[in-house]
Amino acid sequence: MMARLEDIVLAEPRGFCAGVDRAIEIVERALTKFGAPIYVRHEIVHNTYVVNDLKSKGAIFIEDLADVPPGATLVFSAHGVSKAVQNEAAQRGFQVFDATCPLVTKVHVEVAKLHREGYEFIMIGHKGHPEVEGTMGQLDSGIHLVEDVADVARVNPGRGDKLAVVTQTTLSVDDAAEILAAVKARFPQVREPKQQDICYATQNRQDAVKLLSAQVDVVIVVGSPTSSNSNRLREVSLKRGTPAHMVDSADELRPEWFEGRARVGLTAGASAPEILVRQVIDRIKAFGAISVRSMDGLSETVKFPLPKGLKLGDTSAP
Ligand code: SF4
Repeated sequence: MMARLEDIVLAEPRGFCAGVDRAIEIVERALTKFGAPIYVRHEIVHNTYVVNDLKSKGAIFIEDLADVPPGATLVFSAHGVSKAVQNEAAQRGFQVFDATCPLVTKVHVEVAKLHREGYEFIMIGHKGHPEVEGTMGQLDSGIHLVEDVADVARVNPGRGDKLAVVTQTTLSVDDAAEILAAVKARFPQVREPKQQDICYATQNRQDAVKLLSAQVDVVIVVGSPTSSNSNRLREVSLKRGTPAHMVDSADELRPEWFEGRARVGLTAGASAPEILVRQVIDRIKAFGAISVRSMDGLSETVKFPLPKGLKLGDTSAP
């Protein structure tokens, strides 16, 4: 007999990370303190719902600083920006609040420090992703991007003795380990970060999906197509042999995904709000699911402080 939809199992942890929480709060507090409009360079986090919600409250999202009027308040997105963008914002005299995730800033600081010591870099990441552009843009030159193992054979750093590796924070943990092994095989002297750059939230959500995908017949990931860490969650499930689909909202769910499946696993990328998870649950219930339960998992307690000028009771400028 064909299995019927029964359970929804929620991944733990899932959804918002500390960097996303902070970035959204920065825009909201800037709107409260300075009034609309607040300009935001790039999507504050890669989620359609979050961006539309902030737009409705008076945020204006731009890519080019030339589109920001003089004297405006500008927020840098959680993905971080290059030195060139920082300098341009300063030259144009904007009031800037930096919502770059502190874990991305940590990578920027490491790059600057090692550069002063004479290092060149191999960066493991996805070409065109704003975080990669921001990290590579910490230096004028000397950072070589590799996206996969094949790129490692092609990369051509000027020197092998002072070479360090950095990674995008939201990569697949397993893919990054494979690429790093190839880097180490080709450049045995390469310097690795003391603590890996892939962040706790990416690691924890991928670990949870590995456990989840073994317990269910299909996995649904709530996340926007531009969200790197959400895409990786879908891939983690697929690689483990469990079908997986990513949706930006509940109306993208297709009834045929659940045909002949009893258990649905549900997770959300680090930029996807819980309200979307709740809407997805309601829709899967409308398709016939009866119960909802959470898997056992880590509870995260990471919290990052807000920038100067936006803390509660803080009346100073940044
Ligand atoms: Fe920061 Fe990681 Fe969240 Fe990105 S996914 S904002 S690096 S905590």
